[in-house]
Amino acid sequence: MSTSSLIQSTLDYEAQGKQIGHWAVPQSTNSAGWAQYFIPAVVIRNGEGPTCVFFGGNHGDECEGPVTLMKLARQLQPEQITGRVIIVPMLNRPAVESGTRLSPIDGVNMNRAFPGRRNDTITGMIAHFVTQEILSRADIVVDIHSGGSSMHMLPSVNMHDLENREQMGKMVEAAKAWGAPIVYIYKDVAGEGLLPSLAEQMGKITLGTEMGSKSQFGPDTLRITEHGVWNVLQWAGILNEPPDTQSIGDAPQVVAGNDARDYIMSPSSGLFEPFLEIGNPVQAGQLIGQIHSTERIDREPEPVAAESSGMVMARRAIPLTKQGECLVAIVRPYAL
Ligand SMILES: [Zn+2]
Repeated sequence: MSTSSLIQSTLDYEAQGKQIGHWAVPQSTNSAGWAQYFIPAVVIRNGEGPTCVFFGGNHGDECEGPVTLMKLARQLQPEQITGRVIIVPMLNRPAVESGTRLSPIDGVNMNRAFPGRRNDTITGMIAHFVTQEILSRADIVVDIHSGGSSMHMLPSVNMHDLENREQMGKMVEAAKAWGAPIVYIYKDVAGEGLLPSLAEQMGKITLGTEMGSKSQFGPDTLRITEHGVWNVLQWAGILNEPPDTQSIGDAPQVVAGNDARDYIMSPSSGLFEPFLEIGNPVQAGQLIGQIHSTERIDREPEPVAAESSGMVMARRAIPLTKQGECLVAIVRPYAL
């Protein structure tokens, strides 16, 4: 059985110059037995050099990536670079068009679908194509996220805590070059199959981001995102001239939430009343908020305490909360 992708691409990744095209994902629907869903993609190549791949819209309610990468795709010209840049502004385009985290077509979370399968629903087919055709060509992989609808986040560039310290050192260096206020080392507490995890395992210099949230989306988060993509291209040695991006401010703080206790899951369902804002200090045992039952208003709200100390990196953005959903994430200073 063939392992090659069923997705057809209009792009030649080895050709010199700039191409704006798409990946055509086979779809058979009630309105068209023969149909394809197009995922726009851009390849810019000039000479020989490193390859940097940018993904946005992995989650459809996180729009810093799509907006920034559509601008980058239009602005960046071959003569500005040495090497290759591949830009995919809306990796999960169906989710971007519905403004949802998950694909409305198959209900799948793109960032749990890697490495994907050849003959899968649409999300898994895209993941499989990325694994086979795109990550294999990359030196640097950038996957732009934000907290979307559900979490307020301090803007950060992020990665896992890797055992390969040489790779990790380069990734932290690249993350600092981005120019975001925080470099965030995170731990997975909600499953596997992430695009950045696979890229890290493949030995790529891998950067994720959390650039705010759906309601924080605006000039500030977009500026940090836009400066970052140009700064990373400069760090990689791909840009021929320094970009027109000022430093965001002070040197970034490097922090980690690398203990499962740093991710506080709601003990019950109801309305979450937060006591702390992102950026606030927090001590183990301190109350981070309380849950008001919508069924038993005669009961006192359920207090929720932190189990670790540090700073609030993220907090829930949607008051209505189900048992087991993340309320707060805590981080501490991290040294390599
Ligand atoms: Zn995301």
